[in-house]
Amino acid sequence: MWDRLLVDCNIATMDPSIGAPFGAIENGAIGIQDGRIVRVGRRVELAGYQARKVEPLGGAWVTPGLIDCHTHLVFGGNRAAEHEQRLEGATYEEIARAGGGIVSTVRATRAASLEQLVDESRPRLSALMRGGVTTIEIKSGYGLDIESEVKTLRAARVLAASEPVRIATTLLALHALPPEYRERREDYVRLAINSILPAVTAEDLADAVDAYCEGIGFTPEEVEQFFTAADELGLRVKLHAEQLSNLHGAALAARFHALSADHLEHVDEDGVRAMAAADMVAVLLPGAFHALKETKRPPIDLFRRHNVAMAVATDCNPGTSPVLSPSLMLNFACTLFGLTPEEALAGMTRNAAAALGLQDEVGTISAGKAADLAVWRISRPAELCYWIGLPGPERRIFAGQDSWS
Ligand SMILES: [Zn+2]
Repeated sequence: MWDRLLVDCNIATMDPSIGAPFGAIENGAIGIQDGRIVRVGRRVELAGYQARKVEPLGGAWVTPGLIDCHTHLVFGGNRAAEHEQRLEGATYEEIARAGGGIVSTVRATRAASLEQLVDESRPRLSALMRGGVTTIEIKSGYGLDIESEVKTLRAARVLAASEPVRIATTLLALHALPPEYRERREDYVRLAINSILPAVTAEDLADAVDAYCEGIGFTPEEVEQFFTAADELGLRVKLHAEQLSNLHGAALAARFHALSADHLEHVDEDGVRAMAAADMVAVLLPGAFHALKETKRPPIDLFRRHNVAMAVATDCNPGTSPVLSPSLMLNFACTLFGLTPEEALAGMTRNAAAALGLQDEVGTISAGKAADLAVWRISRPAELCYWIGLPGPERRIFAGQDSWS
């Protein structure tokens, strides 16, 4: 006797072994026991099974719960005032001179207590959960000192323990050079490697590490030093690479068997080949592309040609991607980058799971995986990518339980 049996539904399993677009099973059924999917198939195939609760869904579509595999969701303050100032004519230099930009987020994040950080970040998490997210990655990177990076990741762990959502945490110590290290960058890289990384791993606060490899971020050599140290501690790596220029970060990340390289507007074919050989995921971030009014799109055709899996994420952050809607990213991935609706949905389910190393746990509707599901009142899966500003699913099921936040 199962706990639940969902019936009278169509299922976009996103499982390629089903052999249909979206891994679709029409007139399907899903059996759930102890928070996991025990069986999925056509209704007639599950006819002999019984459950304590049999729930007809009135022809709705069920997808895997959405996975947002790249966010900077925990930070202090926000930059709405700067956004306003820019639209009123202020330049980036004027704003930076007045203490704005990323420095202002670093200041606010450092000044906030753990409780304040949790309280300020929770509404953003709730918005994404209402949009259908059941797994989310959260990076540090606005603390940029030992105490504040630890505090940021602790805040992410507090959110994970208090909300019905899976949270993967990532230490992004090499995000930006903190202002007090402006004239001595080697000292900051040393602090990240010798102090921040050990402090974070001592409390098991990070599931992976990340860095920002860019002219305005950190050099490939600095990233390599940081990755080498993380690798020795057994942590998987990810990399912000090739967003504004091509520093060959994707190939560098591939040498460390990275989970993913993210952004990738400027990656070349050698970089894509290296990613394919290392079985990395290309994480595409159309929200930042849109907010920065970028014009160079990531090379989608190269990813397709070399069979590099593509994920799509919100990049939720206060500066370049204040995005709180996962379905808007499904639409942007299609309209701005040219993904098909099936590629876009795979990007926020199956491939996003792989970008977090969680592909055995979530990302498709398959027997054995966690029962993280979203129930949508739509007529076909492509509708998720069609609407601009689609509200969240009708129901959100996390580990077998109906739950919002
Ligand atoms: Zn990012």
